[in-house]
Amino acid sequence: MPKKYIVLDRDGVINVDLFDYVLKNEDFKFENGSLEAILKLYENNFEIIVATNQKCINLHLISAEGIDQINNFWIQKVKEKGGDILHVGVCPHRDEENCNCRKPETGLLVDAEKKLNINLKGSYFVGDKLSDLECAISHGCKPILVKTGYGSRTYKSRYPKESMIFENLKSAVDWIVN
Ligand SMILES: [Mg+2]
Ligand SMILES: [Zn+2]
Repeated sequence: MPKKYIVLDRDGVINVDLFDYVLKNEDFKFENGSLEAILKLYENNFEIIVATNQKCINLHLISAEGIDQINNFWIQKVKEKGGDILHVGVCPHRDEENCNCRKPETGLLVDAEKKLNINLKGSYFVGDKLSDLECAISHGCKPILVKTGYGSRTYKSRYPKESMIFENLKSAVDWIVN
Protein backbone atom coordinates (compact mmCIF):
# COMPACT_ATOMS: atom_id res chain seq x y z
CA MET A 1 0.00 0.00 0.00
CA PRO A 2 1.34 3.44 -0.85
CA LYS A 3 1.75 5.66 2.19
CA LYS A 4 -0.65 8.50 2.72
CA TYR A 5 0.13 11.44 4.95
CA ILE A 6 -2.01 13.56 7.21
CA VAL A 7 -1.07 16.64 9.19
CA LEU A 8 -2.57 17.21 12.63
CA ASP A 9 -2.42 20.23 14.85
CA ARG A 10 -1.90 19.15 18.47
CA ASP A 11 -3.61 21.38 21.07
CA GLY A 12 -7.39 21.42 20.62
CA VAL A 13 -7.26 18.57 18.11
CA ILE A 14 -5.34 15.68 19.69
CA ASN A 15 -5.45 16.94 23.27
CA VAL A 16 -7.90 19.09 25.17
CA ASP A 17 -6.94 22.74 24.80
CA LEU A 18 -6.53 24.17 28.28
CA PHE A 19 -6.54 27.68 26.82
CA ASP A 20 -3.18 27.75 28.53
CA TYR A 21 0.14 26.02 27.81
CA VAL A 22 0.70 22.31 28.26
CA LEU A 23 3.81 22.39 30.44
CA LYS A 24 3.73 18.96 32.03
CA ASN A 25 2.51 15.47 31.17
CA GLU A 26 -0.52 15.76 33.45
CA ASP A 27 -1.72 18.73 31.36
CA PHE A 28 -1.99 16.49 28.30
CA LYS A 29 -5.43 14.89 28.03
CA PHE A 30 -6.55 13.24 24.82
CA GLU A 31 -9.68 14.73 23.30
CA ASN A 32 -12.66 12.40 23.27
CA GLY A 33 -11.93 9.69 20.71
CA SER A 34 -8.68 11.25 19.46
CA LEU A 35 -6.44 8.34 20.46
CA GLU A 36 -8.76 5.91 18.64
CA ALA A 37 -8.80 8.28 15.67
CA ILE A 38 -4.99 8.27 15.51
CA LEU A 39 -4.95 4.47 15.69
CA LYS A 40 -7.56 4.27 12.95
CA LEU A 41 -5.48 6.52 10.70
CA TYR A 42 -2.42 4.39 11.37
CA GLU A 43 -4.32 1.16 10.63
CA ASN A 44 -5.48 2.71 7.37
CA ASN A 45 -1.91 3.39 6.20
CA PHE A 46 -1.77 7.06 7.08
CA GLU A 47 1.54 8.41 8.31
CA ILE A 48 0.86 11.12 10.87
CA ILE A 49 2.71 14.42 10.98
CA VAL A 50 2.01 16.78 13.89
CA ALA A 51 2.60 20.52 13.41
CA THR A 52 2.36 22.55 16.59
CA ASN A 53 3.05 26.15 17.60
CA GLN A 54 4.62 26.23 21.06
CA LYS A 55 5.71 29.80 21.73
CA CYS A 56 5.86 28.83 25.43
CA ILE A 57 9.41 27.69 24.59
CA ASN A 58 10.65 31.14 23.62
CA LEU A 59 8.59 32.69 26.39
CA HIS A 60 10.89 30.55 28.58
CA LEU A 61 7.99 28.78 30.27
CA ILE A 62 9.46 25.42 29.27
CA SER A 63 12.52 24.19 27.38
CA ALA A 64 12.44 22.64 23.93
CA GLU A 65 13.47 19.38 25.64
CA GLY A 66 10.52 19.73 28.01
CA ILE A 67 8.15 19.97 25.04
CA ASP A 68 9.84 16.94 23.45
CA GLN A 69 9.38 15.04 26.69
CA ILE A 70 5.64 15.79 26.77
CA ASN A 71 5.35 14.73 23.14
CA ASN A 72 7.21 11.51 23.91
CA PHE A 73 4.78 10.93 26.77
CA TRP A 74 1.64 10.96 24.64
CA ILE A 75 3.26 9.31 21.63
CA GLN A 76 4.21 6.46 23.96
CA LYS A 77 0.48 6.02 24.70
CA VAL A 78 -0.14 5.82 20.95
CA LYS A 79 2.65 3.22 20.60
CA GLU A 80 1.30 1.14 23.48
CA LYS A 81 -1.91 0.77 21.48
CA GLY A 82 -0.02 -0.26 18.35
CA GLY A 83 0.05 3.07 16.51
CA ASP A 84 2.78 5.61 15.79
CA ILE A 85 3.44 9.23 14.91
CA LEU A 86 5.93 9.75 12.10
CA HIS A 87 7.07 13.26 12.93
CA VAL A 88 6.35 16.16 15.26
CA GLY A 89 7.27 19.65 14.07
CA VAL A 90 7.41 22.29 16.78
CA CYS A 91 7.66 26.06 16.27
CA PRO A 92 9.19 27.59 19.42
CA HIS A 93 8.94 31.19 18.26
CA ARG A 94 6.87 34.11 19.49
CA ASP A 95 4.76 36.08 17.01
CA GLU A 96 7.20 39.02 17.04
CA GLU A 97 10.09 36.84 15.92
CA ASN A 98 8.55 36.62 12.43
CA CYS A 99 9.88 33.12 11.85
CA ASN A 100 8.86 31.08 8.85
CA CYS A 101 7.51 28.16 10.90
CA ARG A 102 4.86 29.63 13.19
CA LYS A 103 1.54 28.68 11.59
CA PRO A 104 0.01 30.11 9.40
CA GLU A 105 3.55 30.08 7.96
CA THR A 106 4.36 26.74 6.35
CA GLY A 107 7.92 26.12 7.60
CA LEU A 108 6.94 23.16 9.78
CA LEU A 109 5.54 21.37 6.73
CA VAL A 110 8.46 22.30 4.49
CA ASP A 111 10.87 21.08 7.16
CA ALA A 112 9.01 17.77 7.55
CA GLU A 113 9.06 17.24 3.79
CA LYS A 114 12.83 17.86 3.64
CA LYS A 115 13.67 15.69 6.65
CA LEU A 116 11.47 12.79 5.57
CA ASN A 117 11.75 13.20 1.82
CA ILE A 118 8.00 13.25 1.42
CA ASN A 119 5.39 15.51 -0.16
CA LEU A 120 2.49 16.81 1.92
CA LYS A 121 0.68 18.65 -0.85
CA GLY A 122 -2.82 17.26 -1.27
CA SER A 123 -2.82 15.75 2.23
CA TYR A 124 -5.49 16.53 4.81
CA PHE A 125 -4.54 19.00 7.56
CA VAL A 126 -6.76 18.99 10.65
CA GLY A 127 -6.76 22.04 12.92
CA ASP A 128 -8.91 24.12 15.24
CA LYS A 129 -7.60 27.61 14.45
CA LEU A 130 -7.66 29.86 11.42
CA SER A 131 -3.84 29.72 11.40
CA ASP A 132 -3.98 25.94 10.84
CA LEU A 133 -6.42 26.27 7.96
CA GLU A 134 -4.44 29.09 6.36
CA CYS A 135 -1.23 27.09 6.71
CA ALA A 136 -2.94 24.10 5.09
CA ILE A 137 -4.17 26.13 2.13
CA SER A 138 -0.85 27.98 1.64
CA HIS A 139 0.92 24.64 1.42
CA GLY A 140 -1.63 22.95 -0.82
CA CYS A 141 -3.11 20.70 1.86
CA LYS A 142 -6.84 20.08 2.29
CA PRO A 143 -8.06 22.02 5.34
CA ILE A 144 -10.29 20.38 7.94
CA LEU A 145 -11.71 22.41 10.82
CA VAL A 146 -12.70 20.56 13.98
CA LYS A 147 -14.91 22.18 16.59
CA THR A 148 -12.86 21.04 19.58
CA GLY A 149 -10.40 23.44 21.24
CA TYR A 150 -10.72 26.87 19.59
CA GLY A 151 -12.64 25.25 16.77
CA SER A 152 -16.13 26.30 17.82
CA ARG A 153 -14.90 29.92 18.02
CA THR A 154 -13.16 29.62 14.67
CA TYR A 155 -16.37 28.20 13.22
CA LYS A 156 -18.39 31.14 14.54
CA SER A 157 -15.95 33.83 13.47
CA ARG A 158 -14.04 33.15 10.26
CA TYR A 159 -12.63 30.21 8.33
CA PRO A 160 -11.69 29.57 4.70
CA LYS A 161 -14.72 28.50 2.68
CA GLU A 162 -12.99 25.40 1.32
CA SER A 163 -12.60 23.94 4.83
CA MET A 164 -14.42 20.76 5.69
CA ILE A 165 -15.93 20.85 9.14
CA PHE A 166 -16.30 18.10 11.74
CA GLU A 167 -17.16 17.94 15.42
CA ASN A 168 -13.81 16.44 16.40
CA LEU A 169 -10.84 14.44 15.15
CA LYS A 170 -12.75 11.18 15.56
CA SER A 171 -15.58 12.21 13.24
CA ALA A 172 -13.11 13.71 10.75
CA VAL A 173 -11.13 10.48 10.64
CA ASP A 174 -14.26 8.33 10.35
CA TRP A 175 -15.12 10.35 7.25
CA ILE A 176 -11.56 10.32 5.84
CA VAL A 177 -11.07 6.56 6.00
CA ASN A 178 -14.57 5.66 4.76
MG1 LIG B 1 -4.79 24.07 18.07
ZN1 LIG C 1 8.79 29.36 14.26
